[in-house]
Amino acid sequence: MDELHEARFYEPLQGGRVRCALCPHLCHIADGRRGVCGVRYNAGGRLYTLVYDRVVSRNVDPIEKKPLYHFYPGSKAYSIATVGCNLRCAFCQNWEISQWPKEHLPKRMAPGGENETPEPICRWLSELEAVIPGEPVTPQAIVDAALATGSTAIAYTYTEPTIFYELAYDTAVLARERGLKNIFVTSGYIGAAPLRELAKVLDGANVDLKYFKEESYQRISGVRMQPILDAIRLYHELGVWVEVTTLVVPGVNDSDEELKAIAGFVRSVGAEVPWHVSQFYPTYKMLDRPRTPAETLRRAGAIGRAAGLRYVYEGNVPGVKGEDTYCYHCGSLLIDRYGFYVRHNRLRVGRCPDCGASIDGVGMSG
Ligand code: SF4
Repeated sequence: MDELHEARFYEPLQGGRVRCALCPHLCHIADGRRGVCGVRYNAGGRLYTLVYDRVVSRNVDPIEKKPLYHFYPGSKAYSIATVGCNLRCAFCQNWEISQWPKEHLPKRMAPGGENETPEPICRWLSELEAVIPGEPVTPQAIVDAALATGSTAIAYTYTEPTIFYELAYDTAVLARERGLKNIFVTSGYIGAAPLRELAKVLDGANVDLKYFKEESYQRISGVRMQPILDAIRLYHELGVWVEVTTLVVPGVNDSDEELKAIAGFVRSVGAEVPWHVSQFYPTYKMLDRPRTPAETLRRAGAIGRAAGLRYVYEGNVPGVKGEDTYCYHCGSLLIDRYGFYVRHNRLRVGRCPDCGASIDGVGMSG
C-alpha cells in the first residue's frame, strides 16, 4: 500500500474530529482513531479507508449462493470482500474476516473516547501493509479478473460491502462500462445518501432482515432496526433488484409472530420480492443452540406464502426442494435447483411455459 485512500461521506468537525455518514452509526472519530467498522481512520482531521486496495477473499460463486434466485439464474458472480463490518452479529458465519479489525488492529486505534496520544500517520503507514490482510488489488484488476472468469456480475459480499464502499463503487463504475452487473450482499446498514449514489451503478442486492425486534438488532448485532427497513425500501424504490434473507435462529427469531412480522414487511415492499429463509448453524459466539430444523424453515416458508409473497425459498438445506422456483400463478415448477446449482430452467423469455405468467426478476429469459 503506497498511500491511504480518502473516504467519502464524512465531514470535518472541530478539534481534528470527523463525522462519518457512510452508515447510520454516524461515528464521531477523534484524530488517530477508527470508526465502529474498524476500517475508517481519522488521520489529522481527514478520514481514510484502510481497505481500498486490499481484498481478503475472492471467489467465483454461483449467483444462487448470494443468494439471488431471480437475477440471471445459473450465472456466475465474481465475489470479493475486505476485512471489516459495521455490525457484530453473534452468529456471523464470516466472523474471522468481518470482525478482524476489531480483534487484531492496535487497541490505541480502537473506536470511542478521546485519543490523548494519537499515533503519527507516518508510523501507521509503515505498519499498515503488514497488518491489513489480503491481496493488493485495484478496481481495474478486479474487473479484468471477473471478465476472465466468465462471470455475469461482481458481488461485493462475505463481509459488509458498505464499509468498503469506495473500492466497491469505483469497481462497479468500471464493471458497468465493461458490461458487468454489480451486486451487494448486505446487512442494509447504510446511509441514504451513499445508497442513492451507489444505486446508480448497482443492479441487485440481497439484504438481510435478521429480526423484527429493535432489542434483538441492538443486543445481537449492535445496530438499530429502522435504518435497515428504510434501506430495503430505498434499494427497491431506486430500481435495484432486491431479495431479502432471514437466517432463522432457534429461540431468537423463529416465533410465528416474528416471522409473520418479517414476511409482512417484505410483502409491504413488494409481493415480487423473494424472501429466503435460511438455516442457522452454531458458530462464533452463538454456540448454545442447534441448527434450525427443516420443519421450522417449512413453517417460515408457509408464513411467507400466506403473507402474499410470490417467491419464498427455504435455503441452506440441499435436497429438501425449498430452493426451487415455482410459478406464482399456476404453481408449475420453473427452475429446478440442487443447492446452489440450477439443474433445469423451464422459463421461456421470462415467462412460465405453462400459463404464460411473467416471472419477476432480472435476466430471467431462461
Ligand atoms: S462506515 Fe464505519 S466509520 Fe462510518 S459511520 Fe459506519 S461504522 Fe462509523
